[in-house]
Amino acid sequence: MSGEPVAVVGGGPGGALLAYLLARAGVAVTLFESRSDFEREYRGDSLHPYTMELLDRLGLADEVLELPHRKAAAFRFHTPHGVITAAGYARLPTRFNYVAIMPQALLIDLLVRRAGEYPGFRLRTSTKVIGLLTGPDGRVRGVRYRDGGAGGGGEGELATSLVVGADGRHSTVRRLADIPITSLGATTDLIWFRLPRRPQDPPDADLDLYCGPGRYVGMLGSDDHWRIGLGIPRGGYAAARQAGVGVVQDFLRTHVPWLADRAGLLTDFTQTSLLSVDIAAVARWHRPGLLLIGDAAHVISPVGGNGILMAVQDAVSTANVLVPVLRRGEPADADLARVEAQRVPAIAEVQAAQVRTERSLARARERNRLAAPPRFLRPILALPVVQRRSARSNAYGPRAPELDLAVLDASAPGAGQPAARRG
Ligand SMILES: Cc1cc2nc3c(=O)[nH]c(=O)nc-3n(C[C@H](O)[C@H](O)[C@H](O)COP(=O)(O)OP(=O)(O)OC[C@H]3O[C@@H](n4cnc5c(N)ncnc54)[C@H](O)[C@@H]3O)c2cc1C
Repeated sequence: MSGEPVAVVGGGPGGALLAYLLARAGVAVTLFESRSDFEREYRGDSLHPYTMELLDRLGLADEVLELPHRKAAAFRFHTPHGVITAAGYARLPTRFNYVAIMPQALLIDLLVRRAGEYPGFRLRTSTKVIGLLTGPDGRVRGVRYRDGGAGGGGEGELATSLVVGADGRHSTVRRLADIPITSLGATTDLIWFRLPRRPQDPPDADLDLYCGPGRYVGMLGSDDHWRIGLGIPRGGYAAARQAGVGVVQDFLRTHVPWLADRAGLLTDFTQTSLLSVDIAAVARWHRPGLLLIGDAAHVISPVGGNGILMAVQDAVSTANVLVPVLRRGEPADADLARVEAQRVPAIAEVQAAQVRTERSLARARERNRLAAPPRFLRPILALPVVQRRSARSNAYGPRAPELDLAVLDASAPGAGQPAARRG
């Protein structure tokens, strides 16, 4: 094994999972997170059946399910003409036949706690990566960081065998590596706000979309509140503010009638945030000594709720390909290219579907038409075979990689053997 650790930059779902997998495989890894904790208000919290099965294989699923979460059995469109089930997970032949909705912070805390049981793992929170160290051959050989923690550690450097940029859609690592990213055509922004959940609310609306002419709201449930995203045209937040919060209240009263009693709690735009949606991809995920994964390599829009799934699957492919290599030494550029080659077809498929959805949303807005699947498609979507296929495709994503547990837990110093379980 190379003497230098892998630096994983970014403690989102992709980076945290990869750091756990590497640590478990006996590969030395330092996880850098610029923030002091893993709290995320403006992120998706959905764990798909793929992710739950993966956690189960890692022996973590039962522990994850002890954390507060909700189980969404379906992803549905509510329209004035009825309900369309886009994905009914309950029929999937798995113990995890639902999407678990759980604050990202809980899952990530657990992953880093478990990673910390392996000797090669180091976590640096409040530490922002601000530069790359490059060797005379042009290979990335480390990171420069600024420790903003209470100890005021100042700036430092870490020599690495590999830098993995898992630092999200506005990736610093991507910019430092001079890897350009191209937008593929999002047309929507979201006005994001919370309203309280009441006991009489539908118990099964945790992932649902409520559609009206040219608009929709997406719901994300938790035990005591709803996070709600109202789709608006990209760049339309200022105009929406000018139109006033009454427009949002009216949409809720008309299209989500069971929220009508609370629509008035949204009194001001200061209670909302703008969530700018993007779909974007880099042409190349790597350069010598450096790899991008997750949103840093491909920004996934909230459509389909599968950004976490894609970041998790990137981490799995990275571990499958690179663990054996890292045990021997530094990965070559060709090894990094293998990770990219495994993941690009799936990402391209997901993003192409998102771009199609964005275009049809834009058309619906222009024509003030219902922002939902067209009427002629509804009988087809209702066919059991189509339901099963769409549930499966949403639950696992295209070309889902299977974690090579045998490689991960193969005999390497410390691999697969936590030093001791802390409580
Ligand atoms: C409004 C909205 C709603 C969404 N809803 C869903 C949903 O319901 N389901 C779903 O699956 N996906 C959803 N997504 C997408 C999903 O949140 C992302 O695809 C996913 O979080 C990407 O994971 P990641 O690990 O690649 O990066 P991120 O989760 O973005 O994590 C990156 C991490 O890197 C850290 N970081 C950044 N720069 C540095 C640096 N220089 N040094 C150190 N650390 C750094 C950040 O603090 C952050 O913790 C949504 C996205 C948006 C914008």
